[in-house]
Amino acid sequence: MRKQYLGTLFCFLFFSILVSAQQVRTPAEWVNPLIGTDSRYELSNGNTYPAIAMPWGMNFWTPQTNNMGNGWCYQYSASKLRGFKLTHQPSPWINDYGAFAIFATTGKPIFDEQKRESWFSHKAEVATPYYYKAYLADYNTTVEITPTVRSACFRISYPEKSRANLIVDAFFKNSYVKVYPNEGKIVGYSCNNSGGVPEGFKNYFVIISDKPFEEVLIHKDGIMYGDRSEAVGFHTGAILRFALDGVQQVNLKIASSFISEEQAELNLQREIGNKGFDEICSEAKAEWDRQLGRIAIEGGTDDQRSVFYTAMYRALLFPRSFYEFDKQGEIVHYSPFNGKVEKGYLFTDNGFWDTFRAVFPFFALVYPEMSSKMMAGLVNTYHESGWLPEWASPGHRDCMIGSNSASIIADAYLKGIRGYDINVLFDAVLKNSEQSGPLSSVGRLGVDYYNQLGYIPYDVGVDENVARTLEYSYDDFTIWRLAKALNRPSEEITRFAERAKNYKNVFDKGTRFMRGRNQDGTFQSPFRPDKWGDAFTEGCSWHWTWCVFHDIHGLVDLMGGEKPFLEKMDSVFSAPPTFDYSYYRSQIHEITEMLIMNMGQYAHGNQPIQHMPYLYAFARQPWKTQQKVREIMDKLYLNQPDGLCGDEDNGQTSAWYVFSALGFYPVCPGSGEYVLGSPLFKKSTINLSNGQKFIIEAEKNDRNRPYIGKAWLNGKAYSKSYLVHDELIKGGILRLEMQDTPSLQRGTNKDDVPYSMSKNN
Ligand code: CA
Repeated sequence: MRKQYLGTLFCFLFFSILVSAQQVRTPAEWVNPLIGTDSRYELSNGNTYPAIAMPWGMNFWTPQTNNMGNGWCYQYSASKLRGFKLTHQPSPWINDYGAFAIFATTGKPIFDEQKRESWFSHKAEVATPYYYKAYLADYNTTVEITPTVRSACFRISYPEKSRANLIVDAFFKNSYVKVYPNEGKIVGYSCNNSGGVPEGFKNYFVIISDKPFEEVLIHKDGIMYGDRSEAVGFHTGAILRFALDGVQQVNLKIASSFISEEQAELNLQREIGNKGFDEICSEAKAEWDRQLGRIAIEGGTDDQRSVFYTAMYRALLFPRSFYEFDKQGEIVHYSPFNGKVEKGYLFTDNGFWDTFRAVFPFFALVYPEMSSKMMAGLVNTYHESGWLPEWASPGHRDCMIGSNSASIIADAYLKGIRGYDINVLFDAVLKNSEQSGPLSSVGRLGVDYYNQLGYIPYDVGVDENVARTLEYSYDDFTIWRLAKALNRPSEEITRFAERAKNYKNVFDKGTRFMRGRNQDGTFQSPFRPDKWGDAFTEGCSWHWTWCVFHDIHGLVDLMGGEKPFLEKMDSVFSAPPTFDYSYYRSQIHEITEMLIMNMGQYAHGNQPIQHMPYLYAFARQPWKTQQKVREIMDKLYLNQPDGLCGDEDNGQTSAWYVFSALGFYPVCPGSGEYVLGSPLFKKSTINLSNGQKFIIEAEKNDRNRPYIGKAWLNGKAYSKSYLVHDELIKGGILRLEMQDTPSLQRGTNKDDVPYSMSKNN
């Protein structure tokens, strides 16, 4: 008995050691790319797809549950797969371009995407950034994928004695395929796009199989041909049939290029060459570990670690690298503006309206070398198109508002990012401040009104006029800061300092809300602060009233002081979630996402209000910021397929989490400060690219202790509610004593509050 007991105990201990060894995962192993994939048109729980891709990769791959052309290409609720798609899609609303798909079947060669689909299960699916595996039940076939930046390896395992089919679907909206059966090679191009490309746009691809093709079937516009090896048409593709006996595995190497077929071959040789699937996979994993490992975390639950590193993965996917290396190893890119091959960097697939807030500040802090390349890319975008991008995919797209390229450029330059021509970018920013563009999202729509009156009137036919006024006003603050740093003429500096105050012109002291204002100076009436759209963008005055990132002190004054300001903030969370959708004619998904969270008018599912919980710190009640940001992290970010609370949006909603989990957030890019919140983990280490480390220690932290009692920065007591970027990048330790009750003293001195333009200058 006793012996047996000891034996059992020994087994138990041994097993425990094994389990704890297994729990030591690398950062990339924590990532769950399926978070956010349980979404649909009416309700976004992230609107993500599992991107099997490298950080800032040119090509992403995703399993495909829906038709080609459907922005919701992978939906968690689906149970059938019909393709593995090469995708460049930044958002379902913007959709894809240059896409094509690979699929594997057995038996009868069926091309039609609905007829060829196969049952699959998430229980037999492995999804990581660097490796994906799915079991196609109808064909007893397993497909594995591993990516490089511009290429990928596929490993397809067919059942024994099967008639194995490889399907290459070059998609609709014009495509081309050509097969070299003896070489096991397929080349072609896909032209599909959703706008934002010049005439002649193509994504050229090359696919090399390690097994020759026994039979070639060519698909063209619904008809299969057994007597030809190429086709050009609206919708082309091929089925390649193998005579497999014994070795039932087919390995594919796939690459593409926006430049040429020859360049696609070059991309394949440079990135894969003679390497096999497993070698590429371990390289991909190592690269993800290297990039994600810039932040190390200790403490927290397994789910919190998964959510954290998944958020980091999402933040590192976009903007997409749109450049390639030519024969001489020079950096070149296909210009989505003029259709030519141009020199230098280019990045795309990004809505700056979303990402100026936290994604680009995250790069400036943790990946300054990438930030430098992205700024060089902006110079090229400006040279090739005459404008800075605001929503690029791959060229300029008419989506959202603002002029937020100014914020991204100023924030990077002021944080010391160099290696590009800032003077060209400043010229581009100046041009934006004086002109409307060829699309409403490029340049500044309503700029003449804004520059003459200090606001865009409600009654002059420019939609979303208050939102535009607020963003231009903030953007002018960033231009002012940049102009000072560049020693621009004093007239210019003064001009932008004045325009940065324009937010005041759309504030109604009567209702203490931002409100549409007519050309004659009267406020728009009747006024409903819960009316979405109209004077605002994808939100209502409850959300946009707080969009004065650069001068919260000024906003406090407008509201009549800290007390009414704090009451207004509290009321956002306690007001019933009423809404008026008449501007959009239907209840847009962002409204639904606010309604279902039971957080009043607070709408974390969309970007305008995401910084708002941090504003308590400006009115000297930082404990409310601490409580709110922890509540949002705990409630709205979960390690499950419906684990996000609205469109993820190119890393923005994720970067909010990454910063917030570290314990601070860039409320005002361009100010050089971060506002303190409440860290999620016991210890976080930022491994800065200059070799320094910044450590956030919160030893007693847990779910019930979100409040900061005391703080020490580099050993000295620290009472401030913010961190300064220039200090942070020198490295250091922020030590926080966490507690379960608010500290009503810390952060309450006038000097403790973060930067505001009207207070600090
Ligand atoms: Ca959004």
